[in-house]
Amino acid sequence: MVHFVGAGPGSPDLITLRGHRLICEADVIIYAGSLVNPALLDEAKKECRIYDSSRMTLEEVTEVMREAEDSELITVRLHTGDPGIYGAIREQMDILDNMGVEYDYCPGVSSFCGASAALNLEYTLPEVSQSVILTRMEGRTPVPERESVRSFAAHQATMVLFLSAGMAEKLSESLLEGGYKKDTPAAIVYKATWPDEKIVICTVGTLAEQAAKAGINKTALIIVGDVVKRTSPARSRLYDPNFTTGYRRAVTPEDS
Ligand code: SAH
Repeated sequence: MVHFVGAGPGSPDLITLRGHRLICEADVIIYAGSLVNPALLDEAKKECRIYDSSRMTLEEVTEVMREAEDSELITVRLHTGDPGIYGAIREQMDILDNMGVEYDYCPGVSSFCGASAALNLEYTLPEVSQSVILTRMEGRTPVPERESVRSFAAHQATMVLFLSAGMAEKLSESLLEGGYKKDTPAAIVYKATWPDEKIVICTVGTLAEQAAKAGINKTALIIVGDVVKRTSPARSRLYDPNFTTGYRRAVTPEDS
């Protein structure tokens, strides 16, 4: 059995209890060495075989899985953050399906959640933005034109950009072309939840300059939108005394 497991954003105590249990039980661990905190591997059994997938091809990874399966071993495929976001898990699952190997998927804390925690930020502020766009600039992996940063910018919703810190200048241009103002708040969060985490608060206009100044060109998220101001012009209805919810009656003048 192969378990795809989300390792969380970096800090080893941000893995789920289930993910932790699977690491402790694994006979084979294949971890994404470029981003997964190796401290998580300290919990593995002494005899566990550990592979760093950053040095392997898809074929090599799936061969390790197949061999482990033939010996009825437990394999953990450890991906950074949550495996469902830029995790390249579908291609592995397709091969496992073809080989008739069973697998399951244990979610993880994505780095975009690690970044909001690092910033004490709520992505969805009433009357500011009620949506979060998770996206990336086009790199070697193409992005469909209908999903360009420029086209998403038109929504002015909160935007979180993965895999784009090395293209901050182009990113800033696309955001401006799409309709963001130069002074729209932005944040760069490098290695969220790691001991060497860095936070840079800037604007869409100063993004590239600030990223260069901080020496950040990878392992970072860029967050764009007015929510980065971290001030709320309106409070939520959920806790408003004047609103009745499924759990609480509105406070009427007679109550007070
Ligand atoms: N599955 C991962 C994303 C993998 S793509 C997740 O859910 O987080 C790799 C990109 O994720 C990096 O280029 C960077 O943009 C982002 N990333 C991963 N870990 C990060 C962290 N701790 N801090 C900031 N960005 C991170």
